[in-house]
Amino acid sequence: MQGENEAAMKVGVLGGGQLARMMGLAGIPLGFKFFVLDPAADACAGSIGQIRQASFSDVEAVKSLAAEIDIATFDFENVPAESARAMAALRPFHPRVAALQDCQDRLTEKQLLDRLGIPVPSYFPVASRTDLLTAMDKVGFPAVLKTRRFGYDGKGQAVLRQAEDLEIAWQQLGDAELIVEAFVPFEAECSLLSVRAMNGEVRFWPLTRNMHSNGMLVLSQPGVFGQGLQREAETIGRLLLEHWDYVGVMAVEFFILDGKLQVNEIAPRVHNSGHWTIDASVTSQFENHLRAISGLPLGDTATTGHAMMFNWIEQMPDKNSLLATTGVHWHDYGKSARPGRKVGHATLVADTDGQLKENSGVLVKKLGGDWLNHWTHWNR
Ligand code: AMP
Repeated sequence: MQGENEAAMKVGVLGGGQLARMMGLAGIPLGFKFFVLDPAADACAGSIGQIRQASFSDVEAVKSLAAEIDIATFDFENVPAESARAMAALRPFHPRVAALQDCQDRLTEKQLLDRLGIPVPSYFPVASRTDLLTAMDKVGFPAVLKTRRFGYDGKGQAVLRQAEDLEIAWQQLGDAELIVEAFVPFEAECSLLSVRAMNGEVRFWPLTRNMHSNGMLVLSQPGVFGQGLQREAETIGRLLLEHWDYVGVMAVEFFILDGKLQVNEIAPRVHNSGHWTIDASVTSQFENHLRAISGLPLGDTATTGHAMMFNWIEQMPDKNSLLATTGVHWHDYGKSARPGRKVGHATLVADTDGQLKENSGVLVKKLGGDWLNHWTHWNR
């Protein structure tokens, strides 16, 4: 029983974006207090806790944050390993530094997946123009050239469709360490959200179908795949969680090709494709992440309705009009409009699949523009 004088658990978060903010929104009712380190004084997680404004590579700032908190986590996967290690030396830090570090580099990530016998698209490291030409002989067109580090939301990558694309892509990306991978003509993309507790207990949410536009997630819908694919994904998820002795939420993004899964990438953190869990799961990814890293029992990951998530990129759409559709749950991250920036999302929840289809059609008509194309593609 919680004693009257029991102090609130203080959670430090490296990164103050929308993921930290939603962690806070889930953790405040659990009695947690949040302390956030971010380079931006106006980071959007400022609404759930105090911002310590510092660079992620400022190890002294990380140490001084450690002095104020009980446990630590991150919402930003490019936190330098040195900062993560400094935090982990002082406070319980989850997910573990090894998971963070392995996933920061697309090459080490794919090499690990290979070692664990998990299918990935064929890939080759590229350090020079010659490497690129040699790799292209093996991979063939089309292919995707990606920076090994710091790529996100489709940034730091170029699709290579023909010989002329090579030099253009090299000019654009050649200063960084690169990887070239086969272009996967996938039937669909999906992701598995999982959570592992300190005692090794693992829970999964249902596989979520995802659609990206220009490399950015636009639509997610859980519960549309069969048990076979779910089991295949869970086997892969469990292997990774156990490999790292992982604690917290982890997302694995997949391509589905010929009805089988290939891993695209792993996010060692809460993930955009799991945002629907806030409104349509007994326990959200954010709450279960906090439960896991603080040693509390995990919550039920069952769904409570049929759900679809719409990502708002660049600017928020008209709230007045969209909230008039039944089942819309609104999430405004409080960010200013900027090209290519995720500023919010909405989850549409319905009792039946038919109702979800009908209401999502209404929503898309109201949104207009690119959404009509996304919608056609989604329902193809
Ligand atoms: P990433 O940043 O690697 O997750 O890539 C963002 C999105 O680009 C993916 O979700 C896919 O839609 C697309 N993409 C990335 N890599 C490939 C690939 N090898 N084949 C086909 N599409 C890809």
